[in-house]
Amino acid sequence: MDTGTESLTCAEIDLGALRTNLRSLRALAGKAEVVGIVKSNAYGHGVDLVVPVLREEGVSLFAVGTVAEGMQLRRLGVTERILVFAAPLPEQLPAYAAQGLEVTVSSVAVAEAVVALGASLRVHVKVDTGMGRIGLQPDEVAESMRLLRATPGIEVAGLWTHFATADDPDTDFAHTQLARFEAVLAEVGEPLPPLHLANTGAVLQFPETVQRRAFVRAGGYLYGMPSSDLVAERTEVQPVMRLVTRVVHLKTVAVGDTVSYGRTWTAEAPTRIATLAVGYGDGYPRQLSNRGEASIGGRRYPIAGRVCMDMTMLDLGLPEGPGASVSVADEAVLFGKGGPSMTEVAAAMGEMAYVLPTGLTARVPRVPVDG
Ligand SMILES: *Cc1c(COP(=O)(O)O)cnc(C)c1O
Repeated sequence: MDTGTESLTCAEIDLGALRTNLRSLRALAGKAEVVGIVKSNAYGHGVDLVVPVLREEGVSLFAVGTVAEGMQLRRLGVTERILVFAAPLPEQLPAYAAQGLEVTVSSVAVAEAVVALGASLRVHVKVDTGMGRIGLQPDEVAESMRLLRATPGIEVAGLWTHFATADDPDTDFAHTQLARFEAVLAEVGEPLPPLHLANTGAVLQFPETVQRRAFVRAGGYLYGMPSSDLVAERTEVQPVMRLVTRVVHLKTVAVGDTVSYGRTWTAEAPTRIATLAVGYGDGYPRQLSNRGEASIGGRRYPIAGRVCMDMTMLDLGLPEGPGASVSVADEAVLFGKGGPSMTEVAAAMGEMAYVLPTGLTARVPRVPVDG
């Protein structure tokens, strides 16, 4: 931010916090290994920043959302194992083999396509125990497992499932999913492949999903983002991202004056208004219009009017009030240390925390800080 050409809005990435979260997650995981989940640009935090830290810390299995993300990791020099969570199309399987990416066997058809390819592949058989997204039905697993295990070159490196409600205070359905998974294991029989099922919510609520399992797949925990209020209460994870911008303009408006597109905010008293250099073009959501808050100098101010593509206005209050101390070029914290939490900002628009960092656009530089 010194030379005058850098973006005024940036996402600071606290690599020390990332390390702390990884260590605290490892303490909870016991003998299970922590998967380095870096899908969607490391939950928006920047794979190029996050991956080297996780490699340094000895993470041996990474996970991404798509084949393209897996290839990006290979280009970044990742030599460790990489699991792709997506359901593959048969035409993508040769790329998995070429890049050494591990396949999610998401259906009987995918199991058959893997066998037909005749290449050397590591696969993880996914069971749909109730998430209703991808995966074999529980009664299809044992036979596909036999088929895969009988095929030379194929290593079944995982048998896994995913929870729909692990971070919910009502644990009934998670227990149903768990019971369905246990029933599948009984049917498959020994020797079982490595098992993994715990996401962030499950790590915190269901220790039985971690014990005697090969891996935990807790992404939000790593980045210090609670997936729900329940998780927020249960954990002391440190937020890794802090989104900051600068004040670029100040003025006082008169009673009856309006601010921003659509004139959805009207001054009821003389009001000092700060214009910030952030907008939905950065991924700062437009749904925060007249709802969100940001902090300047440790004090919170509400958003006045609609969030624009490149700018957002704050209501600093009466011209002679505490907002009078705000100056042009001051830093404004949109979320993270010194401002509202990611969870609070997301809640203001009826969302969960994950949508904020993953929604940041390429215009926002991710800047490493080591706290
Ligand atoms: C994203 C994802 C996870 C991690 O979920 P968190 O809530 O971030 O812990 C685990 N497993 C799968 C299959 C996922 O897609």
